[in-house]
Amino acid sequence: MIDLRSDTVTRPTPAMREAMYRAEVGDDVIDVDPTLDKLQRRIAELLGKESAIFMPSGTMTNQIALRVHCKPGDEFLCDSDCHIYNYEQGAFAQLSGLVAKTIAGQQGVLGLTDVLGSVRPLNEHMVQTRLLCLENTHNRGSGKVQPQAQVEQICQWAHQSGLKTHLDGARLFNASVASGLSLKELSDPFDSVSVCLSKGLGVPLGSCLVGTKEFVAQARRARKLFGGGMRQVGIIAAAGLYALDHHIERLALDHEHAKRLASAVRPFEFLKVMGSEPETNILIFHVSQAWGTAQQYASALDENGVQAMAFSASAIRMVTHLDVSSEQIEQVCKVIERIGNNPKH
Ligand SMILES: *Cc1c(COP(=O)(O)O)cnc(C)c1O
Repeated sequence: MIDLRSDTVTRPTPAMREAMYRAEVGDDVIDVDPTLDKLQRRIAELLGKESAIFMPSGTMTNQIALRVHCKPGDEFLCDSDCHIYNYEQGAFAQLSGLVAKTIAGQQGVLGLTDVLGSVRPLNEHMVQTRLLCLENTHNRGSGKVQPQAQVEQICQWAHQSGLKTHLDGARLFNASVASGLSLKELSDPFDSVSVCLSKGLGVPLGSCLVGTKEFVAQARRARKLFGGGMRQVGIIAAAGLYALDHHIERLALDHEHAKRLASAVRPFEFLKVMGSEPETNILIFHVSQAWGTAQQYASALDENGVQAMAFSASAIRMVTHLDVSSEQIEQVCKVIERIGNNPKH
């Protein structure tokens, strides 16, 4: 099976496992795990923030960022397709008493005109708007890289309006490789940034949240509250350090692979690629009703040895990653060509 369901399916390479085996560890709840400390410092430096904290998932880093920036009864702004709103069980409401105001974007991109007027006036009838959240790259936006000039403009507006800004940078490494902008440049407009090590970098699990020292100290308290305090976590941090050294530049290959897949999809009248072309490692395409449902299309792929996700009733998502070779991508292209004009498979 060629697994394109997500870039989270990657398994640690032998060299990564070797680094994990050799990791120096300590109890990071009682005091500090030396390998994790190294990873956190490195991430903070890469993203240009004072401090970083590691957590078991990107859901936790996002939700703790929201919790620290806001108080119960506060509202945050986000695009209506974002992960924080759609894929985290409304944890901001369940765990932190927050309200989301979703704003329709274009492939997950919000412009200044979309958000103008969305900060509520101070008024005792209303929730208070506290925070703006963006996502880069945008998952449901087919891995789109946020246009940086627009990000800077909208974050400047947010700060002038008294809001904090948080970036869900689950795939910020992909955004950096695709845009040529540094992680620091991409993070500068934001008060806090979450990055996943478990996605394109191929680490078994984990995400980091960065911000000021004060912000991270509060996030550390919240992490313990949410049950995310971990002990000899240097075993995982060693995989993270290994990935920072060896798995960033190669993301460009994943991006090429996604473009190659798009080129196989494009000729078929029943299929329509989102956007003009994938910018990073996520390809989303729509399957027309005349062909069948996305679920039927995914089943047809499956019967031909390819796993992809039916992302909605009519959309298929394919994610390229470390564990898929160029030869396998060519095999997937052949499968797409085989089933492409075969409606109601
Ligand atoms: C994967 C992902 C997350 C975090 O997911 P976890 O499975 O909780 O680590 C957050 N945001 C985006 C955009 C993602 O793709």
